Amino acid sequence: MSVLIVGSVALDSVKTPIEEHSDLLGGSASYASVSASFFSRVNLVGIVGTDFPQAHLDYFGSRGVDLRGLQVVEGKTFRWSGEYMWDLNTRETRSVELNVFEHFTPLLPEGYETARIVLLANIAPSLQAHVLDQAKAPGFVIADTMDLWINIARGDLESLLKRVDMLILNDSEARQFTGETSLIKAGKKIIGMGPRFVAVKKGEHGCLLFSETEFFSCPAYPLEDIHDPTGAGDTFAGGLAGYLASRVEGEVGFADLRRAVVWGSVMASFNVEAFSLERLRTLVQPEIEARFGEFRALANFDC
Ligand code: AMP
Repeated sequence: MSVLIVGSVALDSVKTPIEEHSDLLGGSASYASVSASFFSRVNLVGIVGTDFPQAHLDYFGSRGVDLRGLQVVEGKTFRWSGEYMWDLNTRETRSVELNVFEHFTPLLPEGYETARIVLLANIAPSLQAHVLDQAKAPGFVIADTMDLWINIARGDLESLLKRVDMLILNDSEARQFTGETSLIKAGKKIIGMGPRFVAVKKGEHGCLLFSETEFFSCPAYPLEDIHDPTGAGDTFAGGLAGYLASRVEGEVGFADLRRAVVWGSVMASFNVEAFSLERLRTLVQPEIEARFGEFRALANFDC
C-alpha cells in the first residue's frame, strides 16, 4: 500500500532561542514523506531546483520514497526561514523565497494516480486541487493548510474542502478561518464546509479530532526537550496518512482516525527532538512502537 504526498520540498533556515541553522532539509512534503515511510511506501510529488543537494535525494531514496514525481528544474529550491519565540510554540516567518515553486505544476507519474490515500501537504490550495484532478477515485484525501492560504487564497481553499475527506490545521488557523473563538465551534463549522473529519493541532497541547457526530481529544506526548518544532505538523500528517495506507483496509472511520492521530502524534514527538529531519534519520521502528505503547499507557487510550 502506498500513500501519495504532494507538498513543498525546501531548504530551511531556523532560529530558536538556543540555536540557529541554515540550509536545512525542510518542506511539508519532506517531513510528511519520511514520516509516512515508516508505515508504507510513499510516492512524492514536488519540485526542487538544481541547487538541491544530492545527499537529500539519496536520503529520500534510502527511506524508499519514490521520487519519480519530484521535478528537478533549473533554478533555486524553495527557501523558508523562521524564528521561534521562547515558548517554542510561537513562530514568525522571516522570509520566503518561492524560486522554482513560482511556476510549479504538479504532475502525477504513471501509477501514482491510483493511490488510495492522498496527503495534500501544505502548498497553495490550487496546486493541491490540481493533484486531485489527476487522481483516480482516491479512497481518502487529507489536506493540510496554513495561515497564508487562508489570507490570500480563501476561495481556492473553500473549493478544495468540498473535495477532501479530512482537513488538518492548527488552532490559530482554525480560529482565523472560521472567525470562531471556540475550537469546538470552529471544528464543527469546517465540517459543514465539506470534509468528514477535521484535526485541529494545538502544538504542545495535542490535537482535537472531529467528525459530524464524534470527538476525540488527543494529548501530546510529554516531551522534556524540544529542539526544533519545525515540521511537527507535517510529520504528524505523514504518520497519520502512512498508518491509514498500511493498516486500514476499506472505508476509513472515526475509530481508525483516532488511532491514526495517536501514531501521527508519536511521529511528531520524535521529529521535534532535533533540527530538520535529523531525528527521523536515526529513528528505528522499535522506538516508534515503544513510544506508542508508552503514550497509550500514559494517556489511557483504548486504541
Ligand atoms: P510546519 O512547522 O508544520 O508549519 O512546517 C514547516 C515547513 O513548511 C518548513 O519546512 C517550510 O519549508 C514549509 N513551508 C513554509 N511556508 C510554506 C509555504 N508557503 N508553502 C509550502 N511550504 C511551506
